[in-house]
Amino acid sequence: MKRIYLDYAAATPMDEKVLFAMQPYFSQNFYNPSANYLSARAVKQQLNQFRSSIAKALGAKPAEIIFTAGATEANNLSIQGVGRQYPDGEILVSAIEHESVLAPAGLFKTKQIPVDEAGIILLNKLSNLINDKTVLISVMLVNNELGTLQPLSEIAAMVKTIRQTRRTNSNHLPLYLHTDAAQAGNYLDIHVSRLGVDMLSLNGGKIYGPKQSGILYLKTGLKLQPIIVGGGQEFNLRSGTENIAAAAGLAEALDLAIQKRTAENKRVRELRNYFQELVANRLPMAVINGHKSHRAPHILSITTTGTDNERLMMELDERGIECAVGSACAASSDELSHVLSAIGLNQNQIRSTLRFSFGRFTTKNDIQRTVEDLVNLTAQ
Ligand code: PLP
Repeated sequence: MKRIYLDYAAATPMDEKVLFAMQPYFSQNFYNPSANYLSARAVKQQLNQFRSSIAKALGAKPAEIIFTAGATEANNLSIQGVGRQYPDGEILVSAIEHESVLAPAGLFKTKQIPVDEAGIILLNKLSNLINDKTVLISVMLVNNELGTLQPLSEIAAMVKTIRQTRRTNSNHLPLYLHTDAAQAGNYLDIHVSRLGVDMLSLNGGKIYGPKQSGILYLKTGLKLQPIIVGGGQEFNLRSGTENIAAAAGLAEALDLAIQKRTAENKRVRELRNYFQELVANRLPMAVINGHKSHRAPHILSITTTGTDNERLMMELDERGIECAVGSACAASSDELSHVLSAIGLNQNQIRSTLRFSFGRFTTKNDIQRTVEDLVNLTAQ
């Protein structure tokens, strides 16, 4: 029987066109882009074309795109980069950020912005947490466990007002806004000036591109300390021979994602709603977590109190259905999800929560089979 993959929030299969775009850089175009002969200069030019193409998709300038090995590194560069540049500054992060934001933020003076029961940050609490030393606010665009969207433009407006006040008060400390957009690339507008952000992290592994590919958008004029030093590549912010195959793959994947965005958004949302309807009819004790409308279409977090999520996940796996217990990184540890805990779920509820996430190859039949199995397994 065909296996059903419902963990697109953890990884997406690479598009064949992406593979095709990457292939030449493993063989005939293998040159080091920093070398000075013709073949290497040509490769450097191609790298910059990929940079320009990604910049265009984000409404940014090519020099504002720093290639990284994925979103974890982009988040680290952003947060550690600001933290090291402004050692007396304070950082604010939402309580439901991915570990790759929380862990680097934890190296500096950091406070967490609480969220409501739907997983949306409390703007009034954020406003109270900002003080004269706040140098960076990091709030993700789409939460990877709930799918909830954050009010980025409202935060950007708040940041703008604070910057004006600082100017009048002669406080020269900058206030930057960073967003982790790792779960947003397939479905949302990630145009940086429309979002109003100064930094944005994006990865290829979630948008049908290669794993360990990514970028940090870094607005012109922002100062960061690099965390990887050496040969000075990527504007001195990320040393190491450029991974041009990854850059080619990411540029192609982003291009395809944007082409497919509107249609996939509609299709995946309909599938998710169908899943939700079936669950409401067949599993009345189940609760859907997250916001009812402010959410990306591809993630559904379901609590079926009284069940054991690890066991349920394994039983589904035995029946050929692949889903997640919280996020992929929470799945490998015994720790309870900090996201579900931040929205107020108790230990029992967290231990009976599964995440289903959908993508390009999910079908209505997959959803029917999954809910059917969920009903059978939870009835036992
Ligand atoms: N941020 C979010 C919201 C994610 O969902 C993930 C992946 O799980 C990451 C960051 C890490 O991305 P990468 O695996 O590209 O380092």
